[in-house]
Amino acid sequence: MADSKKNLICPACGEELVKIYDSEKNINLDICLNGCGGILFDNRELNKFDEKGEKADSIFKEIENRTFKEVDTNAVRKCPICNVPMVKMGAGIAGVEIDNCNVCGAKFLDNNELKRIREGVAEDYSHLDSLLDNLYKDNLKSIVGEENMKKAKPSPRRQFFENLVKAYLMK
Ligand SMILES: [Zn+2]
Ligand SMILES: [Zn+2]
Repeated sequence: MADSKKNLICPACGEELVKIYDSEKNINLDICLNGCGGILFDNRELNKFDEKGEKADSIFKEIENRTFKEVDTNAVRKCPICNVPMVKMGAGIAGVEIDNCNVCGAKFLDNNELKRIREGVAEDYSHLDSLLDNLYKDNLKSIVGEENMKKAKPSPRRQFFENLVKAYLMK
């Protein structure tokens, strides 16, 4: 597994991955510090870092303010542990695809992808919220009239519509 002592080779750029130890989570991470900035996560490790509230200082203090090699994110990567092609998997964030190994469950994230996953939902939907807000207010204004707008509350139907749009965009 990724926690083995042996240094692994980056599936995106071929550099040796550097082991970073997260003492709080007791996890060894493999980061491409001398190449593309990609991060290899073990089977369940990514779950401990992908939420905004979860601490990821051990990663970000290593990769921040560094310049990394450009790589082709569309290229098929091979799992550095199993040596089989990895499969691209959506992460629910526009433009972010994770490379997943179907054999050992390892996940490879390109530089910045972890950041985008952690911040993605709030960032991506802020514009949608205000758009829905405007649509809703304009329609409601024409129905109930300007003076009744202050009394208006979001309806269950609006909530349903919002969730529908969000679910569609998350695909
Ligand atoms: Zn790399
Ligand atoms: Zn694997």
